[in-house]
Amino acid sequence: MRPAPAQKCSFCQKLLRGDEKLFSGPDVTICEDCVRFCHQILSREKPDEKKEPEDLRSLPKPYEIKKVLDEYVIGQEQAKKQLSVSVYNHYKRVYFQSAVPAAVRSFDRTTPSCDGVELEKSNVLLIGPTGSGKTLLARTLARILKVPFAICDATTLTQAGYVGEDVENVILRLMQDADFNVQRAERGIVYIDEIDKIGKTSENVSITRDVSGEGVQQALLKILEGTVANIPPQGGRKHPQAEYVQVNTTNILFICGGTFNLLGEIIERRLGKRRIGFSSGLGRAEEEGLRPHAKKGAVVSSLETEDLVRFGLIPEFVGRFPVVTTLEPLDKKDLLDILVKPKNALVRQFQKFFEMEGVTLTFTEQALEEIVNEASKKNTGARGLRAILEEVMLDVMYDLPSMEEVGECVIGRSTVTGRERPLLVDRKNENKKIA
Ligand code: ADP
Repeated sequence: MRPAPAQKCSFCQKLLRGDEKLFSGPDVTICEDCVRFCHQILSREKPDEKKEPEDLRSLPKPYEIKKVLDEYVIGQEQAKKQLSVSVYNHYKRVYFQSAVPAAVRSFDRTTPSCDGVELEKSNVLLIGPTGSGKTLLARTLARILKVPFAICDATTLTQAGYVGEDVENVILRLMQDADFNVQRAERGIVYIDEIDKIGKTSENVSITRDVSGEGVQQALLKILEGTVANIPPQGGRKHPQAEYVQVNTTNILFICGGTFNLLGEIIERRLGKRRIGFSSGLGRAEEEGLRPHAKKGAVVSSLETEDLVRFGLIPEFVGRFPVVTTLEPLDKKDLLDILVKPKNALVRQFQKFFEMEGVTLTFTEQALEEIVNEASKKNTGARGLRAILEEVMLDVMYDLPSMEEVGECVIGRSTVTGRERPLLVDRKNENKKIA
């Protein structure tokens, strides 16, 4: 009797050993390895925790978006409100378009775009001082909407053919965050920082990039408007024969941020006044290291497209940002709130670390005030807070894991100002201080 012919996996064509599991259907057989591989692909495509709202019903309303932003971002009321509305409208447009096929939209007179009203994409331009929460806002929005998110720095971008990062890399980052699921990436949010540094007249241009920065704006313009970008496949150059992945950028929301330092002067000149008392650290006051006291909304109401063009952005580029919003400089009270109030406030994060060691961590009010004082001297908004705290806490974080007797740690003013050792209290006897 002839032995039964060895079975072959219809997918990978491998000859299967007798002890290997296989799954057969009419005329097909699949081996265990291929089943596992398919499972990996499927689970990568549908990570539950990253599932975005599928339709308009589950899309959070502007009020709900703002409420979550409030939990993470201190102040910036106008920007939070404006962004909540813009982002809601953006995804409403995206989900509407995917829910109603184009053919139906053009014939069915009951749908909004059939009366000739096209819902245009509105990317957002954020103008505000360093460390005021521009990136934080964009990142938090992506988390609320559960969409992929990517950050890039405009100063590293180049027009094709120059040394530096191609604009397509921005989309590649988004693809990476979307685990290379094209559909998810096409609905993501991209934050481009330092957009003011690619102005035509910017002093910050690099010889290797392009002389004016205009080339980068032109290249960015395409992806902002909506184009099909060619992205190297996962694994990149390792598989040069693999085909490029095409990603349509039409529904990607671009949020661009910058400090636009001299924009204030441009507005002043246009208005023919010396000072207009505008906010957002856009003017001479910040240049001189002073902290201008915000007059909310003053810049927004005075800023016009021509100011941004005079600043060095090309008109078509400015035209891609129907929504321009400003962020206020953070004052000391804001910085203090940032230390303790947000859901993942820095102080809470340190307290969590200490809790893991079984130690209660507290900061005295004076200690917090000193941290704020140091941070505000740096003139980098809330950016300095973490660095200062890390420095203040370094020694105690080094020692504590080996000091099992410690049950409480109190950071006082002298620990911040003189980097002195904090008060450490014995776990068993709260009256006993540990030297
Ligand atoms: P920007 O992009 O405006 O330069 P970031 O958003 O990167 O500033 O802020 C730097 C850090 O400072 C953030 O990680 C965040 O912890 C903190 N931060 C800045 N602004 C705020 C704010 N308004 N509310 C809470 N935290 C803030």
